[in-house]
Parts: sequence; C-alpha cells; structure tokens
Amino acid sequence: MKYKWKLFFSYLLIVLIPFLVAERYLASHLRARLLIQIEDRLFKEALLIKAIIEKEAAGGDLTYQLDGLVKKIGNDIHERITFIDGTGRVLGDTDVSGDDLNKLEDHSRRPEFVAALKGSHGTAVRYSATLKKDMMYLAVKVAPEDSLLGVARVAVPLTRVEELARSTDVILFTTLLFCTGLILILSIVASRRLSRPVEEITRAAQEIAQGNFDIKVYPDVAGELETLGKSINLMALEIKRKIGGITQEKETLNTILRGMSDGVMVLDAQGRIMLINSVFEGLLRRPPDVFGKKPVEVIRSAELQDGFADALEKGETFRMALTMEALDGNRVFDVTITRLEPEGRTEGAVAVFHDITDLKRIEKVRKDFVANVSHELRTPLTSIKGYSETICHEKIQDEAKVRSFAGIILKHANRLSVLVEDLLSLTKLESEKGVANKRKINFRDVLDSSVPIIKPAADEKHLTIETDSVPKNIEVWADRDQIAQALINLLDNAIKYTPEGGTVRVSTKDAGDELQVTVEDTGIGIPREDIDRIFERFYRVDKNRSRDMGGTGLGLSIVKHIIQGHGGRVWVRSVLEEGSAFSFSLPKEAKNK
Ligand code: ADP
Repeated sequence: MKYKWKLFFSYLLIVLIPFLVAERYLASHLRARLLIQIEDRLFKEALLIKAIIEKEAAGGDLTYQLDGLVKKIGNDIHERITFIDGTGRVLGDTDVSGDDLNKLEDHSRRPEFVAALKGSHGTAVRYSATLKKDMMYLAVKVAPEDSLLGVARVAVPLTRVEELARSTDVILFTTLLFCTGLILILSIVASRRLSRPVEEITRAAQEIAQGNFDIKVYPDVAGELETLGKSINLMALEIKRKIGGITQEKETLNTILRGMSDGVMVLDAQGRIMLINSVFEGLLRRPPDVFGKKPVEVIRSAELQDGFADALEKGETFRMALTMEALDGNRVFDVTITRLEPEGRTEGAVAVFHDITDLKRIEKVRKDFVANVSHELRTPLTSIKGYSETICHEKIQDEAKVRSFAGIILKHANRLSVLVEDLLSLTKLESEKGVANKRKINFRDVLDSSVPIIKPAADEKHLTIETDSVPKNIEVWADRDQIAQALINLLDNAIKYTPEGGTVRVSTKDAGDELQVTVEDTGIGIPREDIDRIFERFYRVDKNRSRDMGGTGLGLSIVKHIIQGHGGRVWVRSVLEEGSAFSFSLPKEAKNK
C-alpha cells in the first residue's frame, strides 16, 4: 500500500474511533438524563394527584367517585393516571372505562405498586399490555390521615424518550458524517502533503540504487525530511566520489595488468582464481571459465598448486620454473608467487609468469654454438698440431714428405682462417642489427664484380656460369659488399656441389617492389629431410664432403642473415641428383621512408 494511503487511513481511524465512542456515550447519557427528567416530572404530578385525592378523601368515602376524579385530573394534565386500592384492585383509570375496570387484572404485584406501599413512591419502566407500548410508571402512596386509601400512579409512554433519543442520534450521526467528510478531505490533503516528500526521497533512493548518482532531491518541507533529503544528496555525492575512486583504481590496475608483458594470475583467500590478465589468457589453450577454479584445474602442475598453498598459508614467496603447454607449443616460465596481505589480512596470492622460453632457447643456441665452434676448430688444429710435431720431432729426410706435411698444415690453417672469417662475419652481422651501408645499387654491377672471384674454381671444374638473363639496369636498396658476399657464398656452394661440366645460372625476377634473385645449379641436390635445416649454423648434409670442399657450414647462415637484414627472404628448391635453386629477395626502394 502506498505511503499516502497508509497515512490517510491512519488519520481516519485516529479521528473516527474516538468520535464513535463519544457519540455512543453522549447518546446513552442523554437518554438517561431524559428518563430522570421524566421521572422527576411524574413524581411531581403524582404528588399533586396524591394531594388532590387526599384532600377529596377528607370529605368522606371516595371509593365510588375515585374513577371520575382520576379521569378528570388525567384529562387536565394529559397524563394517564391509575388509582389502585391497597389490595391491588384498580379503582380508577384515565384510559379504561368504568365498566371495564373490574376486568383489569390484579395490580398488587406491579413493582411500582409494591415499592410505593413500602416507601413513599416507586417507579418502573415496562411494556404496557393495555396500551401496547413501553411506559414509565411512577406510583405514590395515598394515605389521608395515615389510613391507607391506595396508590396513585402516573404513567407516560416512553415513545417520546425514544423520539428524543432518535433525534439526538440523527443529529449526532449527521455531525459525524459531516465531520468524516471533512476529515476525509483534510486527511487526503495532509497525507498528500506529508507523503510527497517521502515519495520523492524514495524515488531518489531508488535512482541511486540503480547507479544514477547525479540525482538531487529537494523535499519541499522543513524539518527531519529536509535533513534526510540533504543527507541523501550528500550520500549520493559521496558514493559517486568513492565509486569514481574505485573505478579509477581498477582502471589503473587494469592498465598495469594489460601493459605487463608477463602473465598474471590472482587468487582469492580460498585459493580460487579471481583474475588473470590478457597475457596469461593468451597462453591458455582454453581461456574461458577459469574464474572460481583452482590453479591446478587450469594448469596441470602439482608443484604450482603447492606453491600457491605455501604462499597462502605461510606467506612465503615461492619461485619455480614451469613448463607449460601453451597455444604455440611448450613454453618455460619463471613463476613467482606472493601472498597478498593488505594490512596484515590474507586476501589471496598473486603469481607472475615471466616467459623465459626465448632466454632458454638462446642459451641452448649459445651452448650448441660454442660446442660446434670448438668441434670445428679442434679438427684442423689436431691435424696442424700432429703434422707440426712430426716435422719437429722426427727426423724426416725426405724433403718432399716435409713439403707435403707443410702443405697439409697450410690447408688446415687456411680452413681455420676461413672459419674464423665466417665466424667474424656472422658475429658482425648479428651485432650490427640492420645493415650498415644501404643505398641504391645496380645489382648487375654487383654480380659482375662477384663472378670473377669464383670463376677460377668454376673453370677448374669446367662449369659454365650463366648470367646473361640478368638485366643491366636493375636497382636494389642494399649494402653492396654484403650482397656481394651473399652472392659469392651461393655461387661458391653451387660450384662446390655441382659435378664437373655442369651449369650454374644466375637469374632475376622483377616482383613489384622487390627483386628476386635465383642461383641455380645442376648439382647433387639436397635431400628433402635436410632442406629445412640447411640455413642453420654448422648444418651440413654431408659433413666430410663439406669439409673436403673447404666448407665451414656457415655460408648459408651468413646469406640468411644478410638477406633478412635487408628485409628480404631466402628460400630453396632442390631435386636430389638434379640440382638446387637458392633464391632471395631484395627491396628495390628503401623501406619505412
Ligand atoms: P658449407 O660450408 O658446408 O657449404 P653452407 O652453409 O654453405 O655450408 O651450406 C650448408 C649445407 O647445405 C652444405 O654443407 C651442403 O650440404 C648444402 N648445400 C648448400 N648449397 C648446396 C648446393 N648448391 N647444392 C647441394 N647442397 C648444398
């Protein structure tokens, strides 16, 4: 029920109940007063009748005149009068004819009669069978000179009292009706006036509950409701400020979490996942539905789960390396778990997943590289050392043999030198990050200056080098020396791995904003299973064959570095026993301009 109506009905009840009680009390009181008044009047009349009869009785026996006397007095005062003798026999009655008097019943038991005989007078109210209505009777003893003559009784119908009471009721009821109407109108007005500010405040409170903190309430009343309205306005302002602060804090936290390169997982005090950042989400195979779960349900690692338990229970910062199956394969993380305990309360724990996969890979590459380099150095050094010792410690007379040994030493020393050169080139390429001296160069010029360097080796194997199809005026954006080195490496390989009499062809293809260069041979080709790995450092299909040819296993790796440093790509097609085609692309114009 609306507040307005509650107020209205309360008013109505408060006014109506006392009013009804008062009306009932007043009505009964008036009736009682009226009866007393009538009784009083009857008493006085009865005394008068008594005096008259006693006076008349002084003149002699009245028995036979009494009825006439009674009727006369009754006529005069318009009242019903009865005279009853001491035995209860009616001797006279204003309303009964003389002949019928004998038929009247014995009145000796009438209460007013009994009371009058006992004392001076008696009253009674009852229904009169003779007159068929409620009557009030008042009887007085008539005893002239102390000898009992009888009892004179005056009776009055109570219809008048009833009429009076009814009219009083009507007046009271009309007043009540009028007052109720007035109260109704007044209480509607008052309840409206009182409930309006309450309704306004209620509406404002509902708006605030729904998040509209800009609402202002101005209840048009003074006093408590005005204070309440002001308090609500202040409260809304305060909540807005607080929520603003919390939102700001949350935004800051989200920005930090988003900006972090590490994965973050936050648990609540019960050890259930409360928050993960986007980096961590990106690592998961099935990212949704992690909230409320235990870490072990998301990452199957008992060690991680124990780490969280330790951090939560003991407050120890826990660190571990964790290998996790992520979307892009296995990744290794350095995980740090710390308990969150603002103001000494344990609120949960936070785990930071720092990805060290690349670090581990680089570490492995470095280790492999050192092992490979050591191995590559050891072979020629062992030979150099062996032959030198032989020459030094053994007396070799044969000069030709000494020369041959020295020749072997020289060959291995050259190998070492080439190896060191290649290693230096690689290191330089890696450390420079980007190419030192890029400018517009004529590719044909670079090719023409490179071919003579490898020409003697080609001639030695009777190989044909074809470069005719390469246009004269084709320009690329590159470092001349590096491109020459890449070309020489590829041509050198083609010559090394192509049997006598074969052909090595250099061709180019204009592919929009890049130039594609291909060095093709009719050589031994590369087995399918090795193709993907030949650009790796020290990877060789046939180690001994490569070494015999003076190869270091670094040539293609250098080519790849150079081309990638120019923003180009390298690729290879090869058919075993038929030949290989190594290609690379170079931009024609400077990029990022
Ligand atoms: P290497 O110094 O051994 O030639 P590279 O890095 O230049 O080292 O080449 C790696 C390996 O790739 C070689 O050992 C060889 O097995 C293979 N390879 C390179 N070029 C050719 C080619 N033109 N034909 C066949 N195999 C080749």
